[in-house]
Amino acid sequence: MKSDIRVCSAWRGRHDRPVYSLSQTCPECGASTENSAPAPYNPDDTYGEYRRARKRRAAEGSQTDEESQATRDSQATEE
Ligand SMILES: [Zn+2]
Repeated sequence: MKSDIRVCSAWRGRHDRPVYSLSQTCPECGASTENSAPAPYNPDDTYGEYRRARKRRAAEGSQTDEESQATRDSQATEE
């Protein structure tokens, strides 16, 4: 998802924490701002998709817990 939120490009040297803004310049120091995009997507991070999928399922509610509990039980029986 693309974000319009920008962050002071010089915050590391000028502020204690990132200064976010929707404008082209930092409201606190006047430095230019840059897109506060998250870390670049790494196509080699094969576990990244797995982690995101888990996160999505976790956000869907308690039904996930019942499913994973059933999975653990059946695995224990088979072993
Ligand atoms: Zn600033």
